[in-house]
Amino acid sequence: MIYRTPEYCRDFRCIAGDCRDSCCKGWEIDIDETTVAKYETIKGAFGERLRDNIKDGHFVLTTDERCPFLNNDGLCDIYTALGEKDLCHICAEHPRYYEWFDNVKEGGTGLCCEASAQLILSRPFLLYEEEVPFEEAAGEYDEELFDMLIEVRESMLETVCDENTPLAEALCYILDTALKAGECIDIQILRNETTTGVAEAIQEIFRKFSELEPIDDKWLPYIRECADKLDEAPTVNAKHITYLRRIAAYFLFRYIMKSIYDGNIIGYATFAVVSTFIICELFRCQSAENGTCSFEDCAEIAKNYSKETEYCEENMEKLLEYFETENYFSINTLKAIIRATFCKNVDDI
Ligand code: SF4
Repeated sequence: MIYRTPEYCRDFRCIAGDCRDSCCKGWEIDIDETTVAKYETIKGAFGERLRDNIKDGHFVLTTDERCPFLNNDGLCDIYTALGEKDLCHICAEHPRYYEWFDNVKEGGTGLCCEASAQLILSRPFLLYEEEVPFEEAAGEYDEELFDMLIEVRESMLETVCDENTPLAEALCYILDTALKAGECIDIQILRNETTTGVAEAIQEIFRKFSELEPIDDKWLPYIRECADKLDEAPTVNAKHITYLRRIAAYFLFRYIMKSIYDGNIIGYATFAVVSTFIICELFRCQSAENGTCSFEDCAEIAKNYSKETEYCEENMEKLLEYFETENYFSINTLKAIIRATFCKNVDDI
């Protein structure tokens, strides 16, 4: 079967002890049943330690929410004691993600990881394909719909990566194209398409984001503060626009094909566009605060955004629901917001 992935993922390496926001803290880590069973058989003091720190299929986090095997050098004691082969599935794979379709497997590395976020922002979005041994598809799907979605996603990716197409126009094209494609899918998604004013809609969108379930306690106050600073914040520069194109491409590649199962192409396209918009606004707020928003700042902001949204199932569900029900996420409102935000600095886009 073909394995398709963004080219940059082939260079992904976990930076382990150098990571400032290790994925081994801050959230519950599920251990797959096979690994739990394997850990039951490990002998000696390390086996005892393993069993003492696992409860109900999870590692028992410390009071400051660290994995009990993450040591003070930022390294994993299981990896050191037993080797990579004995890591549980999540620890061995994170931040990689995959989707399987008949004879095609797609995957990449998630924006939620520091090392991966830097790769995503620093490299042009190009796809790479290789032959890999066959793996079962995740579920049944319609072949014709698959071909249509592949074509639609390709045209979205081409448009957003094309430096000659202004980013605002590319994002509007993504929304229009998703809307049209959605009309050809049997599962109809009903949305509130009442248009609302740009300034009011931006504040409402930030308010909705500031009410999501936080992963990091500092995130929600940060989002609220940013909403208050937007009026004074400078526009993004040409480099930021390049990073934003790559971020939009990441979300499109990762999410559009999911609509093969639920028909919600407009929801996933909206997620890609809204995410690009919010991250842009956070870049602007960082510039307002510090006079600049460097490459490292941009990667950090995008990583934090990803952790708080796409890496929390509950938040993703809520966002997809808001996109259908709230008028400030209507297509015309979003297009007006995008044009107002990105067309301020016409020289750069
Ligand atoms: S977040 Fe990424 S770089 Fe950091 S420890 Fe996890 S996989 Fe490694």
